[in-house]
Amino acid sequence: MTPATPDRAAFHEFAARHRRFLLTTHINPDGDGLGSEAALAMWLAAQGKEARILNDSVMPPAFAFLARHASFEVYEAEVAERRFAESDAVVVLDTSNRQRIGRLAAVLDRHAIPIAVVDHHVTHARGFGLVNVIEAEASATGEILYDLIREGGGAITPAIAEALYVALMTDTGSFRYSNTDTHAHRMAAELLTHGLDPQRLHAQVHSHASAGRLRFFGEVLSSLELLADGRLVVLEAAPEQFQRHGLEGADTDGLVDLPRTIAGVEVVALFSEVEPGKVKVSLRSTGRVAIDQVCSRLGGGGHVHAAGVLLRGSRAEARARILPELQRLIGVLETPAAPGDVTSASRAEA
Ligand code: 5GP
Ligand code: MN
Repeated sequence: MTPATPDRAAFHEFAARHRRFLLTTHINPDGDGLGSEAALAMWLAAQGKEARILNDSVMPPAFAFLARHASFEVYEAEVAERRFAESDAVVVLDTSNRQRIGRLAAVLDRHAIPIAVVDHHVTHARGFGLVNVIEAEASATGEILYDLIREGGGAITPAIAEALYVALMTDTGSFRYSNTDTHAHRMAAELLTHGLDPQRLHAQVHSHASAGRLRFFGEVLSSLELLADGRLVVLEAAPEQFQRHGLEGADTDGLVDLPRTIAGVEVVALFSEVEPGKVKVSLRSTGRVAIDQVCSRLGGGGHVHAAGVLLRGSRAEARARILPELQRLIGVLETPAAPGDVTSASRAEA
């Protein structure tokens, strides 16, 4: 297989040129970031290279099984300095926003080290690497890596197949979101020929909730608001609720997706105040409305149908900054939408 684009060709040259790689992904990493790291680390090792993984955030229990085949280290100042000093190249996966790699961004500032970015987010589409393979039409970063590994002539081992399957399964919402297309299904089918058990992998990722997390979901969902003639759903979670159920920010994962099932809903907004004064906004669109720019304008980002941003201030302030914009996009307010704001077909979702 020859590389499909000049950027991919540049990635292969980058991989061939360097020997000791440090891989990282975004804060609060998901199955795509972690699965992509594991797959790339294994592939590089099979090429006779050294590959280490260092992330800002700890490994969520749902993905701990990926550490059977690759070792994941968590940021500590000394460890980070040592790993950067030992490495001759960095690969950033599943984000093209420098700030999203958390505390590693400051370490990057201090080390002149070549960077390659592999990502599928539509916001920050330029990337900050020497090499940037940013393909917004890919359903997952793991989908791009799947192509890169095959182009690079490496074997897809059962362990690499498992890591890539986790990336694809999680970012397509288990093959439900609008980014699930023929390429994603073909990739899944091919990965399964390596002896994966899709039922077991799904259960491994999705059987880690505490009873408290479900009670919390129940509380938040039972006070959902329907605005804009039922086309906009708003959810709010208060610091007190996180504390009472013993939860942290990552525990809201999946919550914002649930109201999509309400008939007629076009946009879901979750205002999650994990600690007082810090509101994580998560937006989802069911397809007609493009919501990525609402977040990127405020310093966040994501995809056309799934995006997020962290705002300082109260939930009321966050609502005041986000909801009028969403109502305008949905078309409930009189103000006409700016050109290009509404309805953009894209496969990328999470
Ligand atoms: P979620 O709402 O699940 O946290 O995120 C949805 C999508 O938006 C994901 O693709 C995620 O990477 C992106 N996203 C969420 N929060 C932020 C943020 O604060 N900054 C940026 N750039 N992207 C975000
Ligand atoms: Mn992703």
